[in-house]
Amino acid sequence: RAKAEGRGCYRTFTAEMDETVKVRGSIEEELRDALAAGEGLEVAYQPQVAGAGKPVVGLEALVRWRHPTRGMILPDQFIPVAEQTGLISQVGEWVFRDACATSRQWPNLFISVNLSPVQFRVEGFAERMIKIARESGTDPGRIELEITEGVLLEDGGQTAQTLSALRSAGFRIALDDFGTGYSSLGYLHRYQVDKIKIDRSFVSSLGKEDSATAIVGAIIALGQAMNLTVTAEGVETHEQERFLRSAGCDELQGYRYSKALSKEQVARLLDHASQPEKKSVLMVSPVT
Ligand code: C2E
Ligand code: MG
Ligand code: MG
Ligand code: MG
Repeated sequence: RAKAEGRGCYRTFTAEMDETVKVRGSIEEELRDALAAGEGLEVAYQPQVAGAGKPVVGLEALVRWRHPTRGMILPDQFIPVAEQTGLISQVGEWVFRDACATSRQWPNLFISVNLSPVQFRVEGFAERMIKIARESGTDPGRIELEITEGVLLEDGGQTAQTLSALRSAGFRIALDDFGTGYSSLGYLHRYQVDKIKIDRSFVSSLGKEDSATAIVGAIIALGQAMNLTVTAEGVETHEQERFLRSAGCDELQGYRYSKALSKEQVARLLDHASQPEKKSVLMVSPVT
């Protein structure tokens, strides 16, 4: 396209690419510095519940980067750079340590951690995770590792081994963004997992597209038949909740209940929820 439109266009294209490369380069450098200094990265925790007004059952660890000049950077903006540069292993371990500490703080909740396919493929990955959990005195049974199709693709047998080492150590495995990949059912057949998380794209189309409604219902039925826990992501409305609950979905996560919170905010939320007279304030007046 650049060629067809002449030389000027080609130059612009190159300039844009240069800009992208520069921004990427500086993100890499700044992320390296942030990791070395132990500053800037934060973990936010999003509650998972059985329904509005129901107790919090788990928290998903979601990384954030509070950048000194760029402001808050969300994972979609820097995880890909971290993956391309190999920094993801450090980021992932840092998040995992924080999650372990959080798990010890609230031993009656499970903590979910997202794993990158790149991090997952590093030699000795399972052993490192097991070691970190042990060192921090965390029961792996309270930690849930979220993997996506990316982890399960291109398996040379190594993936199955890593997964089974992690499960043997007690970690639970969740298939994140379920239904969006092109071999979701194949993975369920081939790998042992404990939970499936229905992707937000299906949840947000509930009640708007018949196909989404049918797919969500079928995923929940499948999970039940296979004895897996089923969680819905991105629940925002009462109607979505009503459908999911009546279809038998076990756990719900989304802005209807809470966005991702700091640990201080989680502490306050749990505090309020444990006091019946205040419960209605936080747990039944969700953000919609
Ligand atoms: P995910 O694991 O599927 O996490 C759910 C994402 O959906 C989070 O975005 C969350 O804030 C957002 N979300 C939750 N409820 C709602 C809702 O009701 N409506 C809408 N519109 N969004 C909702 P976030 O925190 O920006 O994370 C995006 C993705 O980045 C995550 O998707 C995960 O794949 C990745 N990620 C986050 N933290 C980590 C990490 O520590 N390591 C790795 N490897 N990936 C991470
Ligand atoms: Mg996730
Ligand atoms: Mg997800
Ligand atoms: Mg997602």
